[in-house]
Amino acid sequence: MEMDSKISVLDKIYGIYNDFACDLDVACKRYCAGCCTRNVTMTTLEGYKIVEHIISNGKTNLFKNIRKDIDKKRFQPKLTTNALADLCVSGKDIPDEEGDCKWGACPLLTENECPIYAVRPFGCRCFVSTVICGEKGYADVDPFVITVNNLFLQYIEHIDFHGCSGNLSDVLLFLKSKETLESYREGSLNFTDSGLSSNRLIPVLLIPPEHRLRIQPILQRLKCLK
Ligand code: SF4
Ligand code: SF4
Repeated sequence: MEMDSKISVLDKIYGIYNDFACDLDVACKRYCAGCCTRNVTMTTLEGYKIVEHIISNGKTNLFKNIRKDIDKKRFQPKLTTNALADLCVSGKDIPDEEGDCKWGACPLLTENECPIYAVRPFGCRCFVSTVICGEKGYADVDPFVITVNNLFLQYIEHIDFHGCSGNLSDVLLFLKSKETLESYREGSLNFTDSGLSSNRLIPVLLIPPEHRLRIQPILQRLKCLK
């Protein structure tokens, strides 16, 4: 699939999720940014869209903000969602991954607002809570929402299966040069020293039996995407 087609499919995926999320009863409001942590992850396809946006909108100072904090701890997943699904279907053990929301705020967050809100990755779009996290000290998420979120993560990784996934900071810094963007666009980017995890096609969908019927309308919309 050509890059423009992939971006078009990604936008449609975001649109389908938006239709789902706008009916949810959540406590999330503008300037509520407790979930904007250093632990957000994404695919290179989402990173490509964000880097293009940053460059074309003259916001390259955001790369400096990321680089300034690059020595701080952040969630750097060893497994992508589809790699996790692969382990589940093979009955293998899932390795522990280290992540803590106390590691600090997303390096892009500016005065409690997201400077790339229109193109933010799915990992930011899907974080919702029925309670105000800052007041309760935790997020409360309906189990069906978690299942839907996993489904979307699997599809986004699937359409970027030639790419990789990783922490927001690592993906954006890796892709930020025009040469790297061009190589990625042409499908010739070498990820060997990127430290990112290779994406995979969907091996099996992570949908528990109790959600299989309810999720069908969303699943059918995703399956129809071209
Ligand atoms: S998930 Fe929690 S911290 Fe994030 S916007 Fe919603 S209520 Fe606020
Ligand atoms: S990219 Fe934007 S929405 Fe996502 S965590 Fe960072 S500031 Fe928040």
